[in-house]
Amino acid sequence: MPANVPLTAPQKALHKMGLARDIDLALHLPLRYEDETRITKLRDARDGETVQIEGVVTDSHIAFRPRRQLVVTIDDGSDTCALRFFTFYPSHQKAMAVGNRIVARGEIKGGFLGRQMVHPGFRAAGGELPQALTPVYSTVASLPQTYLRKAVQSGVARADLADTIPPQLSPQLGLQTGWSLREALQFLHHPTPDTSLAALEDRSHPAWQRLKAEELLAQQLSQLQSKRERDALRAPALATNAGGLHEQLLAALPFQLTAAQRRVGEEIARDLAREVPMHRLLQGDVGSGKTVVAALAAAIAIDSGWQCALMAPTEILAEQHFRKLIGWLEPLLSPKGLTVAWLTGGQRKKEREPMLAAVAGGQAALVVGTHAVIQEQVQFQRLALAIIDEQHRFGVAQRLALREKMSDEGREPHLLMMSATPIPRTLAMSYYADLDVSTIDELPPGRTPIVTKVVADSRREEVIERIRSQLAQGRQVYWVCPLIEESEALDLTNATATHEELSAALPGVMVGLLHSRMPPAEKKAVMALFSGGQMGVLVSTTVIEVGVDVPNASLMVIEHAERFGLSQLHQLRGRVGRGAAASACVLLYSAGDNGRLGETARARLKAMAETADGFEIARRDLDIRGPGEFLGARQSGAPLLRFADLATDTHLLQAARELAPLMLDRFPENARRHVDRWLGGKSDYLKA
Ligand code: ADP
Ligand code: MG
Repeated sequence: MPANVPLTAPQKALHKMGLARDIDLALHLPLRYEDETRITKLRDARDGETVQIEGVVTDSHIAFRPRRQLVVTIDDGSDTCALRFFTFYPSHQKAMAVGNRIVARGEIKGGFLGRQMVHPGFRAAGGELPQALTPVYSTVASLPQTYLRKAVQSGVARADLADTIPPQLSPQLGLQTGWSLREALQFLHHPTPDTSLAALEDRSHPAWQRLKAEELLAQQLSQLQSKRERDALRAPALATNAGGLHEQLLAALPFQLTAAQRRVGEEIARDLAREVPMHRLLQGDVGSGKTVVAALAAAIAIDSGWQCALMAPTEILAEQHFRKLIGWLEPLLSPKGLTVAWLTGGQRKKEREPMLAAVAGGQAALVVGTHAVIQEQVQFQRLALAIIDEQHRFGVAQRLALREKMSDEGREPHLLMMSATPIPRTLAMSYYADLDVSTIDELPPGRTPIVTKVVADSRREEVIERIRSQLAQGRQVYWVCPLIEESEALDLTNATATHEELSAALPGVMVGLLHSRMPPAEKKAVMALFSGGQMGVLVSTTVIEVGVDVPNASLMVIEHAERFGLSQLHQLRGRVGRGAAASACVLLYSAGDNGRLGETARARLKAMAETADGFEIARRDLDIRGPGEFLGARQSGAPLLRFADLATDTHLLQAARELAPLMLDRFPENARRHVDRWLGGKSDYLKA
């Protein structure tokens, strides 16, 4: 279309819906179908059935009771039916004038006053009936269904639908029958009337299977491609030296590594020793000991004369890492004249400048901090390893920025991402197929399982009694509230009010308050009192969500637990049970006005009570939320699977995974066309 012709409203709507290319239109599949291929005799129509009838108009009048309406009666020879229209125009009356023969389509109701249809679709009788089911597409108000139908139809006709999958490979798509893409699309837009609607609906029909297999293949190809592009990049090879820093750190640790920690440590060390940038996710449940694994990786980098950066999403978490890493590494680094630097947003200039100088000069072998680590002014001398804790809390852009911090032209740092939210297997196979994953699947010994109780807020008194008993045993308690200020809209109990309530109920006990709006110095002071053991109860908003480590804390109370997400609840619960003492988590919930919890809230609390296994939690979270929300930052703006469903299409996913490397190796041009057809310009989102 010439550039100077302005788009019409429906054309604009098409573009807005992402239906610009012919192939996009061809892939815009119907939500459902209407059967207009046959006429049903009124005598045979069942109450509640949606049917198409044809008859002669025998009466047409406007009735006023119960409200103004046009009532048209038609007779098809077997019975009569009243058509009722509550909004109507003179054109309706004209089209359905007495004596006209019309076709009407709608839901038949067999009431006391005879058969009727309310607001049926109608047209003049005559002309041929369609041979196929009529598609109904998802659309917007400015885009009429009839316009969209035509647009899709011409999209299908014009689009290049030639198979991209070479015939010798197509048996490996995992399909039973040999539908081509063109056949599948043509069929799905206009299925023959004898098709099982159930097979269309649950997408088990071979035409659907073909589309899903193609879509999954595109996703696998795109991820494999970005993995290979990354494999072509160079990174410094970091060997683990005998007798080096890594070995010294191991010897200095106050505990033995678990077998799982040793295994993932070896996986990481192998990656670091290669000249290809590592791109690895280290996943392990809360408390499984990821930090020490990160420290060991840092030791390898530092031992080879390079710098390492560790970035955490919150200042408290970054500080915890900082302390821990300083404790472990500083005694080993200082004899070499090396230091650990600390960078956060809240830092004063006076504190910050020497840090920046040490980073730029290379004396700071390890740099720990928040987002501040990737700010522009930060110049590393020789960055070789970047570690990101709780990676899902960082966006794609931030991760890319960290990779670009490598000052050595043409080389990239190794990237280690850590997460306590394990990726369910099907997601790992699909959305994260470009990522290498190491899993810590065991907790350090000596931990006792956490008992989780779901308790109505009306039983608050009992919970406070429980706090007293924990305090009497010398234990400490977390109490988490969702928001810091009273918000009329949300009616959340405010942390300040809870703090006052608990202070009053627990005389002689130090009850602290921590919330996100406090100045960093104040937060630090509160945390110090709690980790030092002087403070018995810490009331806080979600600032302790990740990473806080106080082994003496044995009880976690979460207020308004129904308002938290499942993985958030799991992370919070992981703050207790870090020592040998028996620990508990109380999920306090308030039911809504109707005295009942919402269905998903109930499902979340139930999952929490039933399992403490992070993998099981992640799986259920995926069930409850669906992949779109689960994926969060990684996928924002990225193409989610439109047709395939990871829960039901695992066999197709498996086939696509095996087929992708074959196709990329043997038919790279087909692979390129395939990805372009399915993902267009969107495949870049998957690369970070
Ligand atoms: P997370 O994986 O949640 O980040 P951390 O790294 O904070 O877990 O470890 C949790 C606690 O367990 C810390 O106090 C840590 O020092 C301790 N820890 C880690 N590994 C071991 C181990 N192998 N044996 C005993 N304690 C360990
Ligand atoms: Mg951690």
